[in-house]
Amino acid sequence: MTEVFTGSFTQQEPIPEDGIAAALAVMQHGRLHRYNEAPGEVAETVLLEEEFAASVGAKYCLAVASGGYAMTTALRASGVGYGDHVLTNAFTLAPVPGAIAAVGAVPVFIGVTEELVIDLDDLGAKLDQAKVLLLSHMRGHICDMDRLMALCDAAGVTVIEDCAHTMGAAWDGVPSGRWGRFGCYSTQTYKHINSGEGGFLIGDDPDDMARAIMLSGSYMLFDKHRAAPPPEVFAQIKYETPNISGRMDNLRAAVLRPQLKRLPEQAARWNARYRALEDGLRETPGLHLVARPAKEQFFASSFQFLLLDWSADAIADVLGHCKARGVELKWFGDAEPVGFTSRYDSWRYAPSAPMPVSDRILAGVVDMRLPLTFSLEDCALIARIIKQEVGAAWQRQVAAE
Ligand SMILES: *Cc1c(COP(=O)(O)O)cnc(C)c1O
Repeated sequence: MTEVFTGSFTQQEPIPEDGIAAALAVMQHGRLHRYNEAPGEVAETVLLEEEFAASVGAKYCLAVASGGYAMTTALRASGVGYGDHVLTNAFTLAPVPGAIAAVGAVPVFIGVTEELVIDLDDLGAKLDQAKVLLLSHMRGHICDMDRLMALCDAAGVTVIEDCAHTMGAAWDGVPSGRWGRFGCYSTQTYKHINSGEGGFLIGDDPDDMARAIMLSGSYMLFDKHRAAPPPEVFAQIKYETPNISGRMDNLRAAVLRPQLKRLPEQAARWNARYRALEDGLRETPGLHLVARPAKEQFFASSFQFLLLDWSADAIADVLGHCKARGVELKWFGDAEPVGFTSRYDSWRYAPSAPMPVSDRILAGVVDMRLPLTFSLEDCALIARIIKQEVGAAWQRQVAAE
C-alpha cells in the first residue's frame, strides 16, 4: 500500500484560549494603541516587553511591527546608513538582505556550511569589508558562537542577530539574541509565537535602546516604556532621532503574552517532532542529515536535509513524488525564487559574486515546515514517505549510471 500524508504544512495551532480572552478584553476597552492607557493601567505591549526581556535575560526590549522592522531598526540604531556595507548570510530569507537595503546599505554575503550555518572561515576572510554583521540563525541552526564572537570582537565588527528561527534557543546556555549588540525576533505566524505580524528587539545598551524606541515611533512618550532605559538617557536622543513608525499594538501583545509563557513547553513538543523525522530518515542512501552540535540548544520549527551533489532533475523528481503523496518540500536549489524560498543570487538589487562552495550546498538543501498540528505519528509517516522516495530516486540514478 502506498501511504499518503493528508495534513497541512501551513496550519499552525490555534491561539490559546487565554490569548483569545485577553484579545477580546483589549477589543472591548478599545485602547489598542500602546500609548493609550487608562489611569493606572499598564499596556499589554509594555508588559509583554518586560516579560520577553526577562525570558532572555536582556535589560531592554522593544516590541515592534515585524521581525524585518526589528532588523532595520537595529541597523539604524547601530549607525548603519546609506552606502555602508553589512556582512550577512548567503543562506537566509529575503527580509534579511531586505532590511539592509531598507537603510540604503549593501549586503556582503558570507557562505554556508554543510551544517547550514555561516561559514566562519569565509567570514574571517571578509571581516575587513564592513563594520556590522547581520547574523541570521537561518532555520534555527546556530554556528559556533564563541568562535564567531571572538572573530568579530577582534575585528571590531558589531553583531546583530536575526533570531526569527531561534526564539527560545541557545548556544552553550546563552540565549540566541544575547550574543550580539541587538537580538531581533519575529512573531509572524510561521515563527515560534504567533501574532500574525510582529517582532522584538532586545539589547543591554541604554543609548542603543533609547534610539530604537525613538525610531519605532514613540513620539515623546518614551517614558511609558518599562523594559527601557530611564528618561534621562533620551535627553539628546529624543531631538536627534527620527520617528519611523513600527510599533506593536496591544491586541497583538495580548495574543502573545500567554504564548510566551508556554514557549519552553512548545520547544519540547517541536523538538520531539524534529527528532521523529530525523530518526525516520537515518541511513537513507544519498540523504545527508544535518549534524546538531552538543552546545546548540535548538528549537526546531522546521526540518532540513541535503541531497548533496544530486542533479537538479533528480531532486525535482524526489520533490514531485513526495508532493504526489502529500509531502510538501521546499528546495533552495531552484534557479527561480519560489514562495518564501530564495537565494543570495535571487536578490538582484544586491551585488554578489558566485560562491561555488555555497552553491553546491544550496543546490542540495531541502526544507520543510513542521507545524505543531503534526502528531509524532504524522512525522514518522512523512519520514517514511521521504525515505522511500529518496531511496527510489537514488536507485533510478544508480541504474542510469
Ligand atoms: C520571517 C523571517 C524574518 C522576518 O520576519 P517578519 O516578521 O516576517 O518581518 C527574518 N529573518 C528570517 C530568517 C525569517 O524567516
